[in-house]
Amino acid sequence: MRPVKAIQFRYVASDELASLFEDFRLMCNDAIRIAVKGKPRSRFTLIEIAYPRLKEYGLHTHYILSACEVAYSVYRNKERRSTDPYIERAFLKLDNQSYSLNHLLLRIPTTPRHFVYLTLQGSNYHLSFIDDPTLKRGSITLTGRTVSIAFSKEIAETETLGEVGVDVNERNVTTSDTSGVTIVFDTSKVAELKEQYRAIRAKIGRVTRRDQRISQRLYARCGTREKNRTTQALHRVSKAIVERAGEKKFGIVMEKLKRIRKLYRRGNGQSPSFRGRMNSWTFRELQRQVDYKARWEGIPVSYASPRGTSSKCPNCDSHLIEFEGRRVWCPSCRQGGDRDVIASRNIMAASVRAARPSKGSREGESRRQENASNPRSRWMEVSAGHRPKS
Ligand SMILES: [Zn+2]
Repeated sequence: MRPVKAIQFRYVASDELASLFEDFRLMCNDAIRIAVKGKPRSRFTLIEIAYPRLKEYGLHTHYILSACEVAYSVYRNKERRSTDPYIERAFLKLDNQSYSLNHLLLRIPTTPRHFVYLTLQGSNYHLSFIDDPTLKRGSITLTGRTVSIAFSKEIAETETLGEVGVDVNERNVTTSDTSGVTIVFDTSKVAELKEQYRAIRAKIGRVTRRDQRISQRLYARCGTREKNRTTQALHRVSKAIVERAGEKKFGIVMEKLKRIRKLYRRGNGQSPSFRGRMNSWTFRELQRQVDYKARWEGIPVSYASPRGTSSKCPNCDSHLIEFEGRRVWCPSCRQGGDRDVIASRNIMAASVRAARPSKGSREGESRRQENASNPRSRWMEVSAGHRPKS
């Protein structure tokens, strides 16, 4: 495995950089036009046919190669769009052979034999990546305010002793693992932040009714702040989940995220306003964080089909009856429990189930299950109205 992690640094841009951004953008768009016309079969063909035109910009050869790479991927994905593809954003992408990084001093080429130096702003966290000799540096992407450096490392995938199922909800993240431990992370703060910012946005709308420009600017600032605060809260949860999985040598199982939108579209006791508050971004963000943090540590991540995770009994697959307060009850087993706990157990068990070749056959049963207690047994344990706290 070679997981990649992109680390973002802030820096102060200069005028020279601004014109470099603009030139690169024009080069990319030239290369896209050439690709649309010439229909190259590969990135290398595009470099061949676009080279003479892009050379006229007088920039270092690295920019030509990079512009062709950007253009080729845009060209390859153009079927999804109706209009001709075009790059508007000011940015630069350079491969790891074209820049050099000495502590926080970044050197990038401009024209042949000329360079620009940028001083990156980095905390101890940032420096821990730069100063780690075991990490390999990949490409860099510069925007007006940030430099993103891709770091990668060689890591063997951990041998797992079990699984932890992660169920993401509006007000909590619930995990259940093969050792029988259930942990509920309270994320109601994230939901409250959403409410708070909704109120702020409504106020902005009222106050700046007469000036669209000001309201746009305030909305944007408000959006960034909300995103930053939400991301921070989610980082604490994703870090805790990955750390524990690492300590216990558990693989992580999450749900394929389609369910979320579907779940809240259906009438399942939630009012339209509640559904309105739902933001699938939060769910995706938490999964994204858990996914990349786990892969970085060599912890396997898998995704379970969302079918029936919160509506089927983990013991007998019977359809569960839903009650108020996120409680469910199995009519066959005559047991009741917490909806989120059940869901996280079903998600965990889904990975074990997926490891079996066919129903009823025990041949392909995963070794993991032997080492651990049966995940599908006794879900009553955490059902009697109390939820174990982390
Ligand atoms: Zn049952």
